Amino acid sequence: MSEKTFPFLKFHRELPREVPVPVRIVGFGEINGSYANGDAADQASRCIDCGNPYCSWSCPLGNRIPQWLKLVKEGRIEDAAALMHETNPLPEICGRVCPQDRLCEGDCTLEEGFGAVTIGAIERVVTDEALQRGWRPAVTNAPTGRRVAVVGAGPAGLAAADRLIRAGVAVDVFDRYEEVGGLLTFGIPPFKLEKSVVRQRREVLEGLGVQFNLGIEIGRDLAFATLVADYDAVFLGTGAYRYVDAGLPGRQLPGVHAALDFLIANARRLLGSARTDDGLPDLTGRRVVVLGGGDTAMDCVRTAVRLGAARVDCVYRRDEANMPGSHKEVKNARDEGVQFRFNRQPLEILGDAGGVRGVRVAETRLIADRHGRARPEPVAGSEEDLPADIVIQSFGFLPSPPDWLAAFGIATEADGRLRVGAAGLPYQTAHPKVFAGGDNVRGADLVVRAVLDGREAARSIVALLGISVRDALL
Ligand code: FAD
Ligand code: SF4
Repeated sequence: MSEKTFPFLKFHRELPREVPVPVRIVGFGEINGSYANGDAADQASRCIDCGNPYCSWSCPLGNRIPQWLKLVKEGRIEDAAALMHETNPLPEICGRVCPQDRLCEGDCTLEEGFGAVTIGAIERVVTDEALQRGWRPAVTNAPTGRRVAVVGAGPAGLAAADRLIRAGVAVDVFDRYEEVGGLLTFGIPPFKLEKSVVRQRREVLEGLGVQFNLGIEIGRDLAFATLVADYDAVFLGTGAYRYVDAGLPGRQLPGVHAALDFLIANARRLLGSARTDDGLPDLTGRRVVVLGGGDTAMDCVRTAVRLGAARVDCVYRRDEANMPGSHKEVKNARDEGVQFRFNRQPLEILGDAGGVRGVRVAETRLIADRHGRARPEPVAGSEEDLPADIVIQSFGFLPSPPDWLAAFGIATEADGRLRVGAAGLPYQTAHPKVFAGGDNVRGADLVVRAVLDGREAARSIVALLGISVRDALL
């Protein structure tokens, strides 16, 4: 094997250098660095074009990864960006927030022994570079005269808007928040995804003709019936916002916070749109305990570090190997000084009307259940009290379908997920003009799968409207 034939022997897997820990924890800036000149091409040249593109199959969007890596290797940045956009309406965002170790890179042929191609980082830096050079995705169809309303400007709604506008459909997006992005803006903290990146994507979509109507809650400020009457179709990308409540005694004490409220309050503070009722606690010099082990919990612990907490503990009832979130986020949290307490189940939040004093936990041992999943079981007599001034609960989210959907015959599953595709087109609800996708259909999931749903729902809407699209867009 020669280095000429197999450049992966010459160029080892290298991610762009991240901002060093002492610098990153004093602010909220993105920790991702960029590749130096030529490094992205060298890294792209590591792809062996193995003929079985497991990476593409493991990418929910089916990105044509080997093909765009070849273009990057040849220095054809705009062509690579165009190919990325054929399958992915938000490549610079997925490149930043996808758990690549569980998706594309986890299945790269080089992963065992040589280190996977840095697919996510290349997707990110190439799209950043192309947009910075002024490249923009093309509109493929002339205006068709058809109009679609999109409810929710999260990744599902943005992806649907991108496909529809490029297919010649006029798109009005409505969101109750004051900025676009959904959880990209108000959930995922800026050290993972800088808000200027979401803002730039908003400008790209506005440049294509998408109209954003922000600060409007459908069902409160504007009736859903108006959208159904005024538009040819409606896409619902409204997310999942109902907290999972573990029912812990003491959860009503002052000093106990819900994860997303905490993150939203901090996001608003950073965006300069803080509200008096946000309730962001002052963490300076405080002991913070975060309960939960998913991506949201990792975002909370890392935010708490940056807000000046004296000590941050993460309590999770399984072991590290069974954590649901991305491994890279656990590593980042640990590098930034977070203490992990694995195999600990919270039993009670301790304190009184004056505030939180601690969390009582029990040690757990893991027993395989009949599905093979490790079920934590508390060990009798192992209770201990962890000191805490602030407790943040992060046990996940469930879909939160609004009451008014029922009046339109839109059915939900028992857990609140919107039912789609039962009859008719994929992503179509029981109302023929209404489509849905993202977390409101799947339950809390990933950005990349919300993007997939928005893209594919747009395909169904275009089919419903009888529009033919000339190129590979849909
Ligand atoms: P959302 O992003 O939730 O967007 C829904 C939008 O609909 C919101 O803007 C909301 O305001 C709007 N809306 C709802 N109802 C109405 C209404 N009636 N009228 C008007 N507007 C309405 N995934 C990853 O892949 N990587 C990560 O690192 C990651 N980190 C995460 C961190 C946190 C803290 C959280 C909570 C989630 C994270 N996720 C991550 C999951 C990911 O953010 C979601 O799966 C994704 O955002 C879902 O997209 P969506 O468009 O379906 O919904
Ligand atoms: Fe990988 Fe996500 Fe990009 Fe797909 S969208 S190639 S899974 S980083």
